[in-house]
Amino acid sequence: MKTFDVIVIGGGHAGVEAAAAAARRGAKTLLITMRESDLGAMSCNPSIGGPGKSQMVAEMDAFSGVMPRAADMAGIHFRTLNASHGPATQALRAQIDRELYHNAVVEILREYKNLTVLFEKVQSVDLEKKIINGRYTAKSVVFTTGTFLRGIVTMGGEKIPSGRIMDNGEHQSPDTVISGVLRDFGFDIIRLKTGTPARIYRDSIDFSVCEEQLPDTPHDWFSDGCDVDNNVAVCYITHTTGETHEIIRQNIKNAPMYNGDITGIGPRYCPSIEDKVMRFPEHTSHHVFLEPEGLHSDLIYPNGISTSFGAEIQDKWIRTIPGLENARFARYGYAIEYDAIDARKLDKHLMSRDTPGLFFAGQINGTSGYEEAAAQGLVAGANAAAFALGAPTLDIDRTNSMIGVMIDDITTLGVDEPYRMFTSRSEYRLNLRADNAIARLGQIGVDLGLIDLPAFLNKMNKKAGKISENDKFYAGYIMRNNREIESYRRDKEIKIPADFDYDNMPGLTHELCEKLKRVRPANIAELQKIPGMTPAGIMVVLRKLK
Ligand code: FAD
Repeated sequence: MKTFDVIVIGGGHAGVEAAAAAARRGAKTLLITMRESDLGAMSCNPSIGGPGKSQMVAEMDAFSGVMPRAADMAGIHFRTLNASHGPATQALRAQIDRELYHNAVVEILREYKNLTVLFEKVQSVDLEKKIINGRYTAKSVVFTTGTFLRGIVTMGGEKIPSGRIMDNGEHQSPDTVISGVLRDFGFDIIRLKTGTPARIYRDSIDFSVCEEQLPDTPHDWFSDGCDVDNNVAVCYITHTTGETHEIIRQNIKNAPMYNGDITGIGPRYCPSIEDKVMRFPEHTSHHVFLEPEGLHSDLIYPNGISTSFGAEIQDKWIRTIPGLENARFARYGYAIEYDAIDARKLDKHLMSRDTPGLFFAGQINGTSGYEEAAAQGLVAGANAAAFALGAPTLDIDRTNSMIGVMIDDITTLGVDEPYRMFTSRSEYRLNLRADNAIARLGQIGVDLGLIDLPAFLNKMNKKAGKISENDKFYAGYIMRNNREIESYRRDKEIKIPADFDYDNMPGLTHELCEKLKRVRPANIAELQKIPGMTPAGIMVVLRKLK
């Protein structure tokens, strides 16, 4: 039996970040994933950043995460979104070259001498004894098995058990073991769905009728930048037409994402084109962003038209979009259903409340998005190392980070659709900007060994001017936010009497009331950790206590 401090299962965005964070903290770490190409693979649109997400990437940078550095090395089209708005709503977004990103991740992981990476499928897991494939064991195990747990791909009437569909049309195999093992062990499993658009050959598109979108020059970086700046790609914008919508409406009964054939819950914020057309009949056109899949790739990702229609119908409506009249398809769009766990069984370190030493991060927790996955991976990996080594935990919360907001949301509220980060999810978003992430979190990173002191000071120096300009811009709001944060922190210490009467409290559901009577938390901090506890429920109890 080979023994490690931390084993991470799955080498996507969450797994890479978890393994690297555990290794940075000094844990002897094993990362097991199916194949080399898994490392940092972008299963869909190769882009990083954007509103809410760019703040989390900056926060990962404050802990020397992998994603910000790799994104700098692989970015081919950097733009600051909302550049004319206030600094809290501005967001760096980069189109990424898939291959460069994968290579960058592999290069960064090689820097970790105490990290072993193995390519094999995990077929057996003893959760009690923490033994993987009968050969590897560790004090902490981090599950980051991602997107395709019992995955079923749907295209029109066709349903195929499948993982990712590669650009060459190959279906990767879904994982059929992990969610069953977790269910048998007492985890609640939920079923979610999402979709992806077709991939179109670049040379079949007439870009002359599309709007050109150039990258910013000069441009911002996610981390410290890199020697080779690949910021040269051009993106384009086109739009759907009345004819597109007409074809979609006429064929809607053949769209499984819309007609009820797929029962998993999909993301409201990222609807399929059939959803958009049917739900917003007043809109006669929707934007389609034509984004390159890489510097030298011959494929274009048409962002905004994910679909579950069969190939024949996709052929028809896509060709009504200006510029795509002669589109040739490398592969068609599809919908996918997959399993995830109910993350309310996890604590704020992303560790199972019932089985200490088991951690979960990424899509398996019901989130969607590369940045969401990576950010959770960093927290789970850092805390898996803490558990294994008896070291201090990484404690962040919704007052000091967007990552804290996400983890608080999913572990207290759970998810009712694939969870994606937006700035509006944070009540303190004016404080939680990308420019001040290093000032907010860097010292915590230094104390835990996630970032070294020279790197921290270097980043602080670079950002100092920008932070104090931007802080002045929001001075009044920030003072109010700070007062609210103080009261939030004080409230956590408030004690709850053992005989506190939870009955007859309007605003507290019957289910929560029964749970509170059973658990009898000693203070507000304990109350917040109760699975299913909502911010509204906390306020009701606080009001009565005060
Ligand atoms: P993954 O990236 O899925 O990685 C999990 C890894 O675990 C894989 O490498 C897999 O091989 C490995 N693994 C699984 N089981 C085992 C096992 N038994 N043994 C060994 N290894 C195993 N996000 C965006 O930000 N933008 C998008 O445009 C976008 N579009 C999407 C479209 C589709 C169709 C899907 C399905 C997802 C999309 N997402 C998108 C979401 C994004 O892909 C995921 O949220 C993100 O990749 C999750 O990262 P992860 O590390 O949790 O999982």
